[in-house]
Amino acid sequence: MKQVIVRETDSTVEGGKRQHFPVVFEWYCEDCQKTQELDMTDGYMMYPIFGKVEELTLYCHECECERLVLRVIPRVTLDIVDARKYER
Ligand SMILES: [Zn+2]
Repeated sequence: MKQVIVRETDSTVEGGKRQHFPVVFEWYCEDCQKTQELDMTDGYMMYPIFGKVEELTLYCHECECERLVLRVIPRVTLDIVDARKYER
């Protein structure tokens, strides 16, 4: 069987309506002087474009207002684990 090659492209693709990510943002709010967290397995971005700069706003639950705007590049990847011949 021929090997499968994965070629990365410069194309961008749109994420889901509520796109989660396996990351946690931890940050320090200077106003209330408390560490805040945003767990993106719970939080989400709406239709992010993977591979493009997007803005994400961090909210302080103590001060109850928006405190930081992050510029982020959401990414999605795909790795081949192995390959086998298709059999019915
Ligand atoms: Zn705060």
